[in-house]
Amino acid sequence: MRKSYLKFSIPDITQKEIDEVVTTLKSGWLTTGKKTQLFEKNFADYTGAKYAIALSSGTAALFLSLIVEGIQAGDEVITTPFTFVSTANVVHHLGAKPVFVDIEPDTYNIDPEKIPLAITSKTKAIIPVHYSGQPCNMQRIMKIAADHNLCVIEDAAHAIGAEYQGKKVGGQGNLTCFSLFPTKNITTGEGGIITLNDKEKAIRLKKLRLHGMSKDGWKRYDQAESWYYEIHEAGYKFNLSDINAALGVIQLGRIKELNQKRKDLADYYIQQLSHIPGIQTLSIPSNVISSWHIFPVWIDSKELGLTRNQLIKALWKRKIGTSVHFIPLHLQPFYQKEYQYKKGDFPITEKIFAGIVSLPLFPKMTNKDIDDVINAIRDAVK
Ligand SMILES: *Cc1c(COP(=O)(O)O)cnc(C)c1O
Repeated sequence: MRKSYLKFSIPDITQKEIDEVVTTLKSGWLTTGKKTQLFEKNFADYTGAKYAIALSSGTAALFLSLIVEGIQAGDEVITTPFTFVSTANVVHHLGAKPVFVDIEPDTYNIDPEKIPLAITSKTKAIIPVHYSGQPCNMQRIMKIAADHNLCVIEDAAHAIGAEYQGKKVGGQGNLTCFSLFPTKNITTGEGGIITLNDKEKAIRLKKLRLHGMSKDGWKRYDQAESWYYEIHEAGYKFNLSDINAALGVIQLGRIKELNQKRKDLADYYIQQLSHIPGIQTLSIPSNVISSWHIFPVWIDSKELGLTRNQLIKALWKRKIGTSVHFIPLHLQPFYQKEYQYKKGDFPITEKIFAGIVSLPLFPKMTNKDIDDVINAIRDAVK
């Protein structure tokens, strides 16, 4: 057995990130400023989008995206129940209804074929979530959205660096929301970022993230005549600090290395797990490149001889950390009480949830760590 506990995920922070943060701390400017601007420019260049707006979280990115797309009380927004709760919480906060649509059994992404059945006269938007970093079937989703005059906001919290039909996620023209939380493919400690091509919406997002003020903080304090600002709309306090952005600049510069590491580890997992009956890995279509944010496996408990919960416990006893992505939102008490969802509503999601477990995956891991995970599974099913 391992001597030390293998954590589910740890961020990969080098001396470069530390130096950049220290430089920023000594620079005399800590809130949103030149570092944030640089991070935004680099992020836009990386994804191929015209604009990138850095924010305090991925959740704030989703929330402001819904606002600039005009989502209001009484509207309906279609998304997957197999996501992190913030995807639906932000819809609820605007007084709109999250309408869930079941997932595909092989990719665990929203099933486009089921979207039209959920569309009503109140439907305004679709939020596809690129589960685990594997892009959704965007060609189908964009066609449905166009046919029904709906906007599309991509929840790309898992998908920094993922590609769909040869193009980076975030560069397809939709408002695309990324998270920079510590477990995500790159981190700013806490943070989020929206990419988009629409200039008017980019300007409005910049105002909304900072109280609705017509000028950024750094513009207000830099010049003698810049004390004046106007408020045309009540905004929020969702800006990213330059301290966080400093981390992001270095992390983004390392994205190729970090994502390659994740892919190599995922490939090794797939190869090793193929010898264990009862464990199924994700199938990746040939027209996408996954960013491998997480490594979920689905276990057939009859074939494996253990339930998902038993496996998690057995791995924990053998010093292997795991996680579950996700507890379906229609099974959460709040969404059941508020929107009358119930068990049985989304059978594919429920079937996948019953057997899903995410194994450790982060760039600092080694093949030896994966061997430990595999040996622990073999030992547990003995
Ligand atoms: C992490 C995550 C979010 C929220 O991002 P935060 O930066 O933590 O607010 C939203 N959606 C999904 C699918 C996520 O995994």
